[in-house]
Amino acid sequence: MSATLPILAAAAPTLLAKRHTSYHPLPTRKFITRCQARMRVFFDWTINPYRGCEFGCKYCYARYTHEFLEIRDPQAFENRIYAKDFDAAAFRRELAAIPRDEMIAIGTATDCYQPAESRFRVTRRILEVLAEDRGRQISLISKSNLMARDADLLSRIARRNMLHVTFTVTTMDRDLARLLEPKAPRPDLRIDAVRRLAGCGIAVGVFSSPVLPLLNDSYASLFAVAHAAKQAGATSYGGNPLFLKPCSRQVWFPFLEQRYPKLVARYEKHYGKADFLKGQYPRFIQERISKIREQLRLARRADIYLPPDDPGDPQLTLFP
Ligand code: SF4
Repeated sequence: MSATLPILAAAAPTLLAKRHTSYHPLPTRKFITRCQARMRVFFDWTINPYRGCEFGCKYCYARYTHEFLEIRDPQAFENRIYAKDFDAAAFRRELAAIPRDEMIAIGTATDCYQPAESRFRVTRRILEVLAEDRGRQISLISKSNLMARDADLLSRIARRNMLHVTFTVTTMDRDLARLLEPKAPRPDLRIDAVRRLAGCGIAVGVFSSPVLPLLNDSYASLFAVAHAAKQAGATSYGGNPLFLKPCSRQVWFPFLEQRYPKLVARYEKHYGKADFLKGQYPRFIQERISKIREQLRLARRADIYLPPDDPGDPQLTLFP
C-alpha cells in the first residue's frame, strides 16, 4: 500500500450514503495479498473485495484494517465501507503469478457478500475471472445468504478448481445472533444458502467461529448448528474459540458490559494478557467439535485436491 493511500482513502468521495452507512471507492494496486500468518491458517493468499463490513459483529477481529486507512474509530469499520476499484485485466496478471498449488482465500478480513456486494458486485467480478481459470485452490467464506446469488458461477468454478465455500454460523438462536451479529442475515437464511449451493454440487462447510465462552459454546448450541448444516448438505464443520485483538476489545467489552455484565470479569481474566486462549478450554472445545463431527459424519474441512482437467462432474462426487 502506498504511503499516500490512507489519506486518499479517508478523503475518498462517497459512492452512496444510507442512513447509517456510507460507501466509498478504494483505489487498489494489488488485489491478491500474500498471507503473513501462515502458521495459523490454511491459505497462502487473500482477496478482500471490501474494506470494512456492515454486518458489525461484536467480536469482529478485522476492525484493525481501517487503521491502515488511518481511521481509528472502531465503529467506522461497520459504517464507512470501501469498495475496491476492480480492474479485471490487472487481476488476471496478478493471478497468473500465483502458483496453482497455493490456496487463495476470499473474504478473510471483510465479508465479501455484505450488503455492498448487492450494489458494487466486486466479489462477483472477481469470481468471473476465476471462472476462466482451472486447477486452482480457492476458499470463500461469508455470513451472507447473498452468496447463493452466485451459485451458477461458483458451480462453474467448482468443476475446474478445488473450491470450498464456508458459511459462518455461530448459533441457530436468532435472538443471540441478532445481538452478536446485528446486521448479518439470520442463521436460518445462511443454512438455506448452504442447501442451495450444496444442491449445485459445491462443497460447502459451516464454521461456528468464534466459539464464545459461556455464550454459544454448549454442546447443544454447537450441535444445533452442525446438525442444521448436515441436513442442508454441508460436508464439513468446525469452529475455533474467540480471539480478541486490541481493536476487537474496544467493541467486545462494552457489548459484554451492556448485555452480559456477569461475564465481564471472567473474560477479563482469560483474555487479560493474551489475544488467544491457551490451555484446557481450547482443547476441550476442539474435542467437543470433533465429537459432533463424528456423530454427524462431517469432515474437518474439505480435502485439498487438484481435480483432473474439467471432470465435468459436480464437485461433491469427489467428496462422498
Ligand atoms: S461478517 Fe466477518 S468481517 Fe463482517 S463484521 Fe462480522 S466478523 Fe467482521
